[in-house]
Amino acid sequence: MRFLSIGECMAELAPSGDPGHFRMGFAGDTFNTVWYLRALRPDIHGAYYTAIGMDTISDKLLEEMDAIGIDTSWISRRPDRTIGLYLIELLNGERSFSYWRNSSAAKCLADEKAALIKAVAAADIIYFSGITLAILEPYARDSLLDTIREAHEFGKTVAFDPNLRPGLWPDTKTMKKTVMRGAEMSNIVLPSFEDEAFHFGDIDPAATIERYVSAGADRVIVKNGPHPVAFFHQGNRDTVPVSQIANVVDTTAAGDSFNAGYLAELDRDIPQQEMIAAASRVAAKVIQSHGALVQL
Ligand code: AMP
Repeated sequence: MRFLSIGECMAELAPSGDPGHFRMGFAGDTFNTVWYLRALRPDIHGAYYTAIGMDTISDKLLEEMDAIGIDTSWISRRPDRTIGLYLIELLNGERSFSYWRNSSAAKCLADEKAALIKAVAAADIIYFSGITLAILEPYARDSLLDTIREAHEFGKTVAFDPNLRPGLWPDTKTMKKTVMRGAEMSNIVLPSFEDEAFHFGDIDPAATIERYVSAGADRVIVKNGPHPVAFFHQGNRDTVPVSQIANVVDTTAAGDSFNAGYLAELDRDIPQQEMIAAASRVAAKVIQSHGALVQL
């Protein structure tokens, strides 16, 4: 199984514990998922598709990916740009985020259509998110969606996390319309209920399922924090409870790691309930530690 994740990875500056000092790392929703997939299934070929700069911080990101065995051969390098950055600050125990990503190299990730087509053609599973779509200019978004649609029509498996982030979109109408376009060409949609309810007005996870099934998804897995995961698969609808965690430390990357846990089971012939239980075990570990990337 060859997995290709498409999106943006940023440099992360997180509080080190020593006031005024920060620790640097790398994170980003689609990157986190391929990172966890590699951790869970080193036997699966996992590639990341993005654009980065030609500076030392971009070199460092590439080294980090290479070190954990993510295939970086599709990553394009731009002399005029660098990677995005975000800073986490703790204000009265609450995390607040500041972003510098408006001119990040990843915004150009879909500019080389021929390379994109090749990368997608070499994969069995293509994974992207609403954030991947949000960071692109309309022409680049269309180009990416056209490429993914063709792959889907060709019979590739496409997995999509709507990851609704209104701050990255010009307006919520565009966000909702584009996310539904993304879902149309996806076999597997992995939304988080809280965001979907807020932006689409879904009254319960079943409503989220129906909306994405009507768009054309074969499987919809609705994450819902500590509440059961609702799913649709081959005409069946059911729910799977998640482990109850007494001490939730940091929910960063809960959804990204859940998605990796689920996709890591795709090539095993096991029931949906087991796939979802495995995914929620991964997310349960992740939310009991600080940071997006937790050693499993
Ligand atoms: P979310 O995207 O926030 O709905 O979370 C993704 C997954 O992380 C959920 O389906 C759960 O498996 C896990 N998760 C998130 N928050 C919690 C929590 N408070 N307690 C237990 N599991 C959680």
